[in-house]
Amino acid sequence: MRVGHGYDLHRLEACPPAGKGKQFVLGGIQIEHSTGLVAHSDGDVLLHAVTDAILGALGLPDIGQLFPDNDPKNESADSAIFLCEAVDRMRKAGWEIGNIDCTIICEQPKIGPRRSEIVANIARLIGCTADSINVKGKTHERVDAVGEGRAIEVHACALLKPR
Ligand code: MG
Repeated sequence: MRVGHGYDLHRLEACPPAGKGKQFVLGGIQIEHSTGLVAHSDGDVLLHAVTDAILGALGLPDIGQLFPDNDPKNESADSAIFLCEAVDRMRKAGWEIGNIDCTIICEQPKIGPRRSEIVANIARLIGCTADSINVKGKTHERVDAVGEGRAIEVHACALLKPR
């Protein structure tokens, strides 16, 4: 078996014209929120961390090396493309998902009400069962950038098993 860890953080700003925030999306699910994600791609911080966990388990270059944020091709890209590329490389290398565990850290929005949709969508994108994916949310106790609502971060661990 192989294990990988992924981490990502994106800044949160008001949406234009007041700021540079893009529509808030987590795990491919759009969520109404007062701020949006600042990113070159769609800024899906959860899919970025999951992608990096899988790539990390494979010992491959990270998401930023595979999909540079200065490449116009990746501008406002659907991050599902990044995850699906990692999954494709995983299968070709002879591995499949054992399980993935994710922690989303933000004050708002609350993850709980959307958790099952997010889990189902990640499982659909990967092509695994929903019980292989775990997503949980916690706050940053109102301190630092995440706690003050200026950023959101995600940790993800992926266990791969031979196909
Ligand atoms: Mg990112």
